[in-house]
Amino acid sequence: MSRSPTFPATDLHGWYVQAKRDLPWRRDPKPYKVWISEIMLQQTQVGNVIAYFLNFLRKFPSVSNLADAPESEVLSAWSGLGYYSRGRNLKKAAQVMMSEHSGKVPETFKELIKLPGIGPYTAGAIASIAFEQPLPILDGNVKRVLSRFYLETDEKKLWSAAESVVRSWHQRKGKPSEINQALMELGALICSPRAPKCSQCPLRKRCGAKDNSAAEFYPVGDRKLTTSKQSHALLLLERQCAAGQEFLLEQRSGSEPWLKGMWQFPIIPLAPKENFKLARCRGNVAKRFSSKLGQRIQVKRYLGKINHQITRYKLDLQVIRAELIGRQASLSSVYRWVPELELQQFAYSSILKKTLALAKN
Ligand code: SF4
Repeated sequence: MSRSPTFPATDLHGWYVQAKRDLPWRRDPKPYKVWISEIMLQQTQVGNVIAYFLNFLRKFPSVSNLADAPESEVLSAWSGLGYYSRGRNLKKAAQVMMSEHSGKVPETFKELIKLPGIGPYTAGAIASIAFEQPLPILDGNVKRVLSRFYLETDEKKLWSAAESVVRSWHQRKGKPSEINQALMELGALICSPRAPKCSQCPLRKRCGAKDNSAAEFYPVGDRKLTTSKQSHALLLLERQCAAGQEFLLEQRSGSEPWLKGMWQFPIIPLAPKENFKLARCRGNVAKRFSSKLGQRIQVKRYLGKINHQITRYKLDLQVIRAELIGRQASLSSVYRWVPELELQQFAYSSILKKTLALAKN
């Protein structure tokens, strides 16, 4: 550690008691709720998680409900949170809990980390918040606070620092759940990535970064994912059915970079200069979709563009409405005609919702 001032855990805890946000998973931190909230909070801001958390708990109030639910229902409840593998892993982990842990969230780090979707940070968070075990958490917020406080950027040393804070607090009869959440909350509310509010911070007297105004330089070396821009054409193919109207969906392969394995309107990549205002481009795209489906289609109308970000991919999706022409071939099993009223039962992604809204305008 570059410098080792005593960590003012009592001051931090005092601040936390006054300033902590009233969050639904904090009111009643049962292990199941803590687990679901921690998975949702990976890569997603608290403000965006609350409504999803409440809805998810209404739909799947226990480990057994979640384990028994069809994956499509779980993904439907997850829709909009992104990183869908988290939703899939929740269901898989619930099944392991049913078969190996009597339907309960396991208590130890060793058992937690074996579950799908749970890494060292989440295992520590669940064990400390739900079971009061003195284990460290080093999420982005905690890392930033400790990195600035100790003027340290080495990840291993920051894990040791987080461990030392929670262990010594526990030795003094403090609750691990509270000191860990206090560190996380401080990073979220005060020690923000830009312009930290040092004058309101309970650590300011001993914080290294505050002393030399270096806060914005810590932590350094954070891996920033570069954003990738992609253009695609999205095919809205509909036909009449007994229930009214049905749409063609395609199940994306598990090797796609985004929305892996999810049902979605068929999509093909576009070259940077392909312009939908040109009839030639619409003709080319219709040909490519026809060859993908093994069925001829004809573009009826260009509906407009949807912008959407999934993980690090910034997508612009050019939506076309089309119709089948010629003899109707049987489609491969990755395609399915789905009546409009049943779309909700499939993984109801934000792209799907945006496309339908565009089509109804
Ligand atoms: S004093 Fe400033 S830089 Fe240091 S932990 Fe507090 S908010 Fe962060």
